[in-house]
Amino acid sequence: MERSQMEETDVLVIGSGIAGLSAALYSAMGGVKVTLATAVHLFSGSTFFPGTWGFGLVGPESEEDEEEFIKTILSLGKGVALPSLVRTFVEKVNGSVDELEAMGLTLLKPSSEKEGEKEYIPCFDHKHRRWRGLTKKNLLEVMPGLLAKHGVTIRPFHKALELTKDNERISGAFFIKEGKELVHIRAKAVILATGGLSGLYKYRLTTDDVTGTGVGMALRAGAKTVNLEFLQKMIGFVTPGPKTVHNEKTFEASNFYTGSGEDLLKKRLPEGISKEEVLKLRALHGPFSTETDSKYLDLALHEELQESGQKGVLLRYDAEKVKAQGEFVKTYFDWLKEEKGVSMDEDIHVAPYMHASNGGLLIDEKARTSLEGLYAAGECTGGMHGADRVGGLSTANGIVFGKIAG
Ligand SMILES: Cc1cc2nc3c(=O)[nH]c(=O)nc-3n(C[C@H](O)[C@H](O)[C@H](O)COP(=O)(O)OP(=O)(O)OC[C@H]3O[C@@H](n4cnc5c(N)ncnc54)[C@H](O)[C@@H]3O)c2cc1C
Repeated sequence: MERSQMEETDVLVIGSGIAGLSAALYSAMGGVKVTLATAVHLFSGSTFFPGTWGFGLVGPESEEDEEEFIKTILSLGKGVALPSLVRTFVEKVNGSVDELEAMGLTLLKPSSEKEGEKEYIPCFDHKHRRWRGLTKKNLLEVMPGLLAKHGVTIRPFHKALELTKDNERISGAFFIKEGKELVHIRAKAVILATGGLSGLYKYRLTTDDVTGTGVGMALRAGAKTVNLEFLQKMIGFVTPGPKTVHNEKTFEASNFYTGSGEDLLKKRLPEGISKEEVLKLRALHGPFSTETDSKYLDLALHEELQESGQKGVLLRYDAEKVKAQGEFVKTYFDWLKEEKGVSMDEDIHVAPYMHASNGGLLIDEKARTSLEGLYAAGECTGGMHGADRVGGLSTANGIVFGKIAG
């Protein structure tokens, strides 16, 4: 290991997914000196995961929808989401997303006649909300220019190891630079945006830099966490196109088979529960949930993999049923062909993967952790979501609380 170097800044942001980018941008717009340090290259983490088309960003449909949206998030949270964070999020999300759009970020919107399609209802939700689509390509078009314009200093390939304290106040962090040099970055405030805990799992639908080490560092420094036991697992491809997300809107057109060619659900479902009903319910959410009979799909996959020792279960799409679905599903299959080279006619093998954390560091409405000088935003935090979460709120959560932290 080479000798340590020291740098000084006003605000140190750790992590360059959506939460870190939002935090760095807004800190810098406030006129302070900002350093954005990140474990691998700039623009990394789940936000830039190559196995999905992009992300839904969801907000209330109108001001009148805000109270209902808050109620829905808290009810899905099963008593463990924190009302103050949920309210802050719901009141700020549309404005925060619109502000990024005004700065030049292109967002996808449903064409107006398609807004009524059920595919635009977010995961676990029961009604339409405001939906915007965020693609990696569109983020990459605008973010480099915005960071440069506001003078953010970028420190790629800086892996944070430990937070440092002056008395009881967090005062920076130690990093390993490019795997060989120890660097101490001192700061007046630190914002952690290091993503979720997927790195703790062998089978994960995230990039390998999402390790959970940020939460570990904060815990060692004395920070509090919330809801760490609530995580999201979803179905992904094993072959072809490994770690590609199986889009839940396609469940009703999905047939799963055992190694001997039997219909998996017919073999495994408990008596009295139909395959059609399970697939219909499962199409309402990407991540696994224990709340409805949709759970029997994931349990069947899991049992089959355990018993057969295979790495994936065979999936074949029903082309006629796919055709009958709407714009959202067509966008997914077009993306699958263009980006992953996978066509819906192929034999695909799938398995459950860890995908995102619902819990993490405890923050308040101002994105403050329980430690002085330490703020946090995005998937490394908890409390905004509870046991289950409405789809499209994780990326949006990074935008909103990244901005607040910044
Ligand atoms: C397949 C998939 C589909 C998804 N779909 C949706 C969706 O449709 N809608 C939605 O809202 N959400 C979705 N999510 C979740 C959402 O993408 C993430 O919650 C969100 O992008 C997390 O952003 P983040 O900035 O908090 O963390 P990340 O984007 O994970 O960024 C973490 C950053 O921290 C860095 N880092 C980690 N540890 C260290 C360290 N020790 N030192 C320095 N840097 C470190 C990483 O390199 C990375 O730059 C999806 C996630 C996946 C994987």
